[in-house]
Amino acid sequence: MAMHRRDFLGALALAAPGVPGLNALLASPARAAPAATTIDRVEVFAARYPMTGYFKFFTGPHGSEGRAAVFVKVTAADGTVGWGQPVPIARWSDETLETAEIAIREYFVPAILGLDPTDIAGAHHAMDGAIAPGFSTGMPIARAGIDLALHDLTGRLRGQPLASMLGLPVGGRLELSWTVNVRTIEEVEQVVADGRDRGYKHFNIKVGPDPAFDAALAREVRRLAPAGFLWADANGGYDPATALRAAPMLADAGVDVLEAPLRPNRISGYQALKRQAALPILMDEGVLSPTDLEEFDRLGMLDGVAMKPARCAGLQSCDAQIRYCKDHGRMWLGSGLTDPDISFAATVALYAAHALNKPAALNGPQFLTADVLTEPFEPKDGWITAPTGPGLGVEVDEAKVRELVERTRTARPAGG
Ligand SMILES: [Mg+2]
Repeated sequence: MAMHRRDFLGALALAAPGVPGLNALLASPARAAPAATTIDRVEVFAARYPMTGYFKFFTGPHGSEGRAAVFVKVTAADGTVGWGQPVPIARWSDETLETAEIAIREYFVPAILGLDPTDIAGAHHAMDGAIAPGFSTGMPIARAGIDLALHDLTGRLRGQPLASMLGLPVGGRLELSWTVNVRTIEEVEQVVADGRDRGYKHFNIKVGPDPAFDAALAREVRRLAPAGFLWADANGGYDPATALRAAPMLADAGVDVLEAPLRPNRISGYQALKRQAALPILMDEGVLSPTDLEEFDRLGMLDGVAMKPARCAGLQSCDAQIRYCKDHGRMWLGSGLTDPDISFAATVALYAAHALNKPAALNGPQFLTADVLTEPFEPKDGWITAPTGPGLGVEVDEAKVRELVERTRTARPAGG
C-alpha cells in the first residue's frame, strides 16, 4: 500500500517522540519535500458564548451579549481539517467580532488559499502583505485564528500534538487562577468563595484607576487566601504618577506582581516603575510580536510578560516570546482572553509544553457557560490537564458550532 507523505512523517514522529532535532527537521519547510497538500477552503463563523458572573470587559453594548468568538475551519486539499478561534473583546483592544470576521474572510483567507498549510511562517508573511503592520502586527487577534487553525491542521497532517511540533514535552497540567473583578469590597468574599468551592487557591485581581480601592481589594483577597499567588492587572488603567503611588501600596497589601499598570505607549512611565522596583512589572497589551518584547525589554520597561497567544497573532509569536523570556531570565506568566474551547486548548497546550510554573489566569471555565467540543474542558480542583491529541488536541463538534452561531444570530436585536 502506498504511504502518503503525511503517513510517513507521522510514522517518523511517532518513532522518535521528543527528539528535538528530528522535530525541527520535520518543522522546517525548507528541508521538506514539496507540499503534500494545500489550503483548499476556509470557512468562518461568528458567534458569542453565553456567560455568567460580572467581568468589566463584557458589559455595555455588544459586550453584554456574551464572549465574541470567530470559528475558523481550514480544510486542506486532502480533506484534513484544522480549527482556529480568534477571540476579540472590543472593550479590551481595538478588534471586534465584526472586524475580526471581515479581516479573516476578506483579507487573510485570500492571502493563504493554495499555500502549504504546514508553512505557518509563510502564511504569516502572506498575511503581513494582506493587512500591513501598524506600530506592530496588524489585526493580531483575528490573525491568531488562522495561526491556530494552521497549527491544528499541521499537527493532524503529521500525527503530532502541538508540543511535539514545537520540540517540547507532551502532556502535563496547569494550576489555574480565579479572577476577582468587583465593584465593591463587600463582594470579594463571595467571589473568592466561589473560586474556593471549585478548588481554586490562587487569585488575580482587576485594579485601576483608584489605588486606595485597589489596596483594600488586595488586602481582602490576601486575608482570604494568605498562601495564594496574588496577581494584580490594571489593564493600563493608571496614569504614570498614580502607578508609582499604587505599586508600593499594592506590594504592602500582599500583591505578588503588577501587570499593565500603564498603556503600553507610556514608555518612560514603565521605565520609572521598573526602576522603582516595588513589584515585578509585567506587560500585556501592546506586546504583539517578539520584536516588541525585545525592544521593550532593551528599553528597561518590564520584568516579564503576561502571555496570551490570542493577543499576539497566535502560537508562533507567543512561543517565540516565551523562549525569549526563558533565555533572558524574564518572568512569563500565563494569561488569556477568557478563552473558549479551541483558543483555550491552544493556550493550555502551549503553556504546559513550556512547563509554566505559576498559576495561569485562564478564566474561560469561570465565565463561559457553553462549549463546542466533543469533550469539554473541566478544571479539577483548580487544575486543567493539557490536551495531548494531534494538533491542538481537541475535537470540535460542528453541530454545536452551528447551534451557537444560530443562537447568536437570533439573539441579536433587529437591525443590530
Ligand atoms: Mg492583562
